[in-house]
Amino acid sequence: MINMYNSGLSIVRYLAKSNIIVQGRYASQALPQLSSEKYDVKRKNFGTVQAADINYFKSILSEQRVVTDESDVLPFNIDWIKNCRGQSKVVLKPKTTEEVSKILAYCNEKRLAVCPQGGNTGLVGGSVPVFDEIVLSFMLMNKIISLDEISGALVCEAGCILENVDNYVRNHNLIMPLDLGAKGTCHVGGNVSTNAGGLRLLRYGNLHGSLLGIEAVKADGTVIDCLRSLKKDNTGYHLKHLFVGSEGTLGIVTKLAIHCPVLPKAVTVGFFGLENFDNVLKLFKSAKSSLGEILSAYEMMDNESIRGTLRNMKLTSPIPEYPFYVLMETHGSDADHDTEKVNRFLSKEMDTGLILNGTVATEPGKIQAIWKIRESIPAACMMDGYVFCYDVSLPLANYYQLVPMLRERLGSNASVIGFGHIGDGNIHINVTISDFDKEVLGVLEPFIFEEVSKLQGSVSAEHGIGFRKPQYIHYSKDRSALGLMRDLKTLMDPNGILNPYKVLPDDV
Ligand code: FAD
Ligand code: ZN
Repeated sequence: MINMYNSGLSIVRYLAKSNIIVQGRYASQALPQLSSEKYDVKRKNFGTVQAADINYFKSILSEQRVVTDESDVLPFNIDWIKNCRGQSKVVLKPKTTEEVSKILAYCNEKRLAVCPQGGNTGLVGGSVPVFDEIVLSFMLMNKIISLDEISGALVCEAGCILENVDNYVRNHNLIMPLDLGAKGTCHVGGNVSTNAGGLRLLRYGNLHGSLLGIEAVKADGTVIDCLRSLKKDNTGYHLKHLFVGSEGTLGIVTKLAIHCPVLPKAVTVGFFGLENFDNVLKLFKSAKSSLGEILSAYEMMDNESIRGTLRNMKLTSPIPEYPFYVLMETHGSDADHDTEKVNRFLSKEMDTGLILNGTVATEPGKIQAIWKIRESIPAACMMDGYVFCYDVSLPLANYYQLVPMLRERLGSNASVIGFGHIGDGNIHINVTISDFDKEVLGVLEPFIFEEVSKLQGSVSAEHGIGFRKPQYIHYSKDRSALGLMRDLKTLMDPNGILNPYKVLPDDV
């Protein structure tokens, strides 16, 4: 049975702060183990921050923007999933590109390692130091510089929070081309540096396509100005792409220009219950062919994902329990046209039995409530203990295969859930146990990456490699590609001060 919530024209604004992650103070008993001990890492031969260095930083940034108080520094040392903990003694908060440039030139000369940090929502430990790297936080580089309402080109600083920028452009009838559960906290500079995917990649493409220009600072302090707002620019190498997804290892992103699509006048969200995973795929094929250009998201969640989320987050599902769920969204410019298309699709797929039950919403509050269930899954897992997060890409035919395989391998020791952006072939597999356990880690890794590699998938679809996966990157990149990555790193950061221990394994 389909229940149509409140149809009619609705210009939707996602105002909810779905996952606001406040950098709070930590009680010492809740501190995760130091990353260097947990993963047995040796400190590289970098300098150690001295009083004279702190004085220099204060001379360029002012006293307040050089944070050295231990309890104030602590949240910058711990990642969102509370898996990694670094030992930094200082956080710097530049406000301008010139300040970033001066800091890097100085650190490069003194061989002081630096860890760039945006909103610290990264899920692979890339955003926090491993040892005593200086944390470079962009939280004060948060100005919107310009918006061209005709072309949709937005220019802003790297530390702008994604949701704030989205709210800003929505006031000008545009939207940001990406959306993710961490939008209330993550920075656009962090998004570019991780090449974040998110919920609407299916419709608006990945960031390589939307990013028009970039300003970045190299390890030696040189400012690279590629901050153009042109849609087309074929003058030589596409240097901006070097910084997309390089996770702070090749340079620091300080400003960016991004193409914002038009705010959809009509938004529809459906939440459906399905019998099995095969039907999830069949429904996707049908949605693409019936809804074509208006389909903007197609997300899948298994029963266990939704059950745990409803329980832990105290949310209510608009439909009863089913083995699988699909959240489908359309973005269009004509409510009548879209409603007609969606209704035709729904009545067909109710008849075929692919959709067993569902609800469709066009009213902002209802849409938000449905998205909230999907977006709360990662935070809900965290409430049950320690979470191993995987974000792999797989051919659609094999998309869900690893979930039952892992359930069998782990038995009742762990909860294994599968959910994700099926439209992009990207599944999130979260494995939750009560506390971090090296034996469970050994059962999961490298097994999961070996299986992904056998299926010609990618060990990271969107979260990146960070600190947690350099030893597994070879499952998805061959030696020649890794060699070129190493050459680029040596060229752009010869002293290796930018985000060491991340992305590149030592043996390439
Ligand atoms: P951080 O976590 O601070 O940093 C990430 C990496 O980028 C680090 O290596 C850091 O050193 C580097 N970095 C940050 N800023 C800069 C800069 N200005 N210059 C150079 N390097 C920099 N990711 C997705 O792709 N899709 C999702 O759907 C998604 N959903 C999520 C949902 C939740 C609830 C959470 C907690 C995370 C989710 N993520 C998702 C992961 C994360 O939000 C993204 O990777 C995001 O892009 C990180 O942005 P950030 O500003 O928090 O960066
Ligand atoms: Zn995701």
